[in-house]
Amino acid sequence: MQKHVLVTGGAGYIGAHACKVLSEAGYVPVVFDNFSTGWREAVKFGPVAEGDLMDRASIDRAFAQFRPIAVMHFAALSLVGESMTDPGRYWRVNVNGSLNLVEAAVAAGCLNFVFSSTCATYGDQDGVLLNEDTPQHPINSYGASKKAIEEILKNFGAAYGLNHVIFRYFNVAGADPAGDVGEQHRPETHLIPLMLDAIEGRRPALTVFGSDYPTPDGTCIRDYVHVMDLVDAHLKGLEWLLAGKGNRSFNLGTGHGFSVRQVIDASRAVTNRDVPIVEGARRAGDAAALVSGSVRARAELGWQPTRSTLPAMIRDALAWSQKSGYLR
Ligand code: UDP
Repeated sequence: MQKHVLVTGGAGYIGAHACKVLSEAGYVPVVFDNFSTGWREAVKFGPVAEGDLMDRASIDRAFAQFRPIAVMHFAALSLVGESMTDPGRYWRVNVNGSLNLVEAAVAAGCLNFVFSSTCATYGDQDGVLLNEDTPQHPINSYGASKKAIEEILKNFGAAYGLNHVIFRYFNVAGADPAGDVGEQHRPETHLIPLMLDAIEGRRPALTVFGSDYPTPDGTCIRDYVHVMDLVDAHLKGLEWLLAGKGNRSFNLGTGHGFSVRQVIDASRAVTNRDVPIVEGARRAGDAAALVSGSVRARAELGWQPTRSTLPAMIRDALAWSQKSGYLR
């Protein structure tokens, strides 16, 4: 019997990589996407259920047609800066949309749920390593909306036995080294692809958002994790749920933070090219440092990140950008 997994946002960056590993592991990933930011070309590993999380009937249809054994929920608005200028949209799409999905899953009897949350739920915590039990005090609407969805999952777990694994991502980067899928946002807002654009002359320069943070070189520190390592954890999270191991939250980061300047230096070293930069103002909603404690996923899921070094992530992102020819 085929084991379908409903992958919301399966046409997006992380969702498409998840579909690839699900299919390699013998599952059938069903892409549920409204293609507002996802890419039809990224749907390669299973069927599509085109729909919108704001349209409950479209979700119900997907459950009825495919009878998935689990949901992986990636679909969301995910830009910190945008969430600060348009918070209503973040609450509507992320929270109302997820509530529709969770209610539809319970109604369909699909009680295994893997959720993409974020380190942005922790907020700015003065350079401490962030563990799963660190209190969550988000400082931007994106993080606040994701924290609210975590609460919804806990409530639905208690009320209806909705089994859930929550992954709090740190900064996801890189691309499938086989080149089947990669990162493609329009417009692009993320550090590494923008830096590659600046290196390759597709944009005049990379703007460094803030050089006056309380960090050693004044720029923000993030914990970068390779998308292949990240989706491998999702597979392990799915198997955790299917084995009946219960509800759990896991950080997905390496435990090592790098500043924006260190990422720029690593890119110079990998490409042997200069990175034109402009020093700009801080971006609203950015925490100075977000670094994962990174113990629980390794200890309990047996997660072993193997590609999450800056050179590997930059190399894989570069190879993808050259292969895909940048559609943006
Ligand atoms: N950043 C930057 N210039 C850019 C894009 C990002 O300096 O053009 C910084 C940003 O302020 C943050 C880090 O790079 O400290 C990572 O940002 P990104 O948008 O890639 O991911 P986020 O941390 O928002 O998830």
